[in-house]
Amino acid sequence: MDLSKVNTPAYVIDESVLENNLKIFKSIETATGCRVLLATKAFSMYTVYPLISKYLSGTTNSSYHEAKLSSEEFGKSTHIYAPAFDPDTFKKACKICDTISFNSLSEWHRYRDLIPKTTKIGLRLNPQHVEVSHKMYSPCQPGSRFGVLKKHLQDDDISGVDGVLIHALCGNNEDSLERLIVAIEDQFSDTISKDHIKWVNLGGGHMITRKGYDVDKCCELINRFQDKYNVQIILEPGESVVLNAGVLVCKVLDIVENSMDIAIIDTSAAAHMPDVIEMPYVPELKGASKENRENSHRYRLGGNTCLSGDIIGEYSFDAPLNIGDKLVFEDMAQYTMVKNTTFNGVNLPSIYIYKQDGVLELVKSFGFDDFKRRV
Ligand SMILES: *Cc1c(COP(=O)(O)O)cnc(C)c1O
Repeated sequence: MDLSKVNTPAYVIDESVLENNLKIFKSIETATGCRVLLATKAFSMYTVYPLISKYLSGTTNSSYHEAKLSSEEFGKSTHIYAPAFDPDTFKKACKICDTISFNSLSEWHRYRDLIPKTTKIGLRLNPQHVEVSHKMYSPCQPGSRFGVLKKHLQDDDISGVDGVLIHALCGNNEDSLERLIVAIEDQFSDTISKDHIKWVNLGGGHMITRKGYDVDKCCELINRFQDKYNVQIILEPGESVVLNAGVLVCKVLDIVENSMDIAIIDTSAAAHMPDVIEMPYVPELKGASKENRENSHRYRLGGNTCLSGDIIGEYSFDAPLNIGDKLVFEDMAQYTMVKNTTFNGVNLPSIYIYKQDGVLELVKSFGFDDFKRRV
């Protein structure tokens, strides 16, 4: 990608990487007959929904706003799940979603009479199986508010439920999926064997487009499960749909020294890549190394807000940095533009798309009004 014309800070989505990712999901749908939905909470850049909807079967949404955007711009199947529904938005969601999944039996009982007859009903189950060590991203830890436990299901008649949602993974490979399926069978085989259960949604967190992920094994697991229980599998990945399909471009504003060299850049971990602080992790930077290399020029990169901890990380460069240099953070499509803020009044990054024919197109830019409207 030629990023010289990008006005920083900016997210630049790489259309060809996105389409290659989508082809992998399509191949899984074709090989298994399962359905793949985009989890829009990871990526809601609707200008590329027409491209994504050529390959995927629909969207899964975690709020009325996400669902409305998806029904307007993506079409196809629109699912919604939320930890709990607000009565007003629930009624509106019923009009635009073909599938509604409930987090608890009490929510289902509270709302079931309001649901249109043609709407499919899902129930989130919690297999209490942990594949994610980081508690922030681990939905099935003890104390989790997500999903119905086996012991709570026992006395309830769930004959009005059409399918189940089990989201237990985050950033996992096919070995985790295999163990999750064992746990699901152990906990819920009676439930999913029932005739009225037509689909089992295995949630997101499948890193299907990551290098080294065994797609054939994933298909084999899906096929075996579908045949055994006579259900259709649904996957609803977010992160892996846009994995490596976008960068965050910024530039160096100043360089200061305090026990080390520190470059201040025109973006922010806190405002523009909050997972860097939340996880925390140090993102890859094009042309730089995170390791402390000999004979290299090492800098801490800090964001342009007044938060002391707005630090992206430390990197080694072959040459000294100069004011105005452009820097490119990798893999910045997922959980970035949907989570960014105008903290400190820093401007939101522009959004560009780098088309397959090499054309760089500005999709959106932001300014003072976007800040003022939110506060
Ligand atoms: C977040 C989430 C997803 C998507 O997860 P990724 O890790 O982005 O693939 C899917 N389903 C549910 C219920 C979620 O909460």
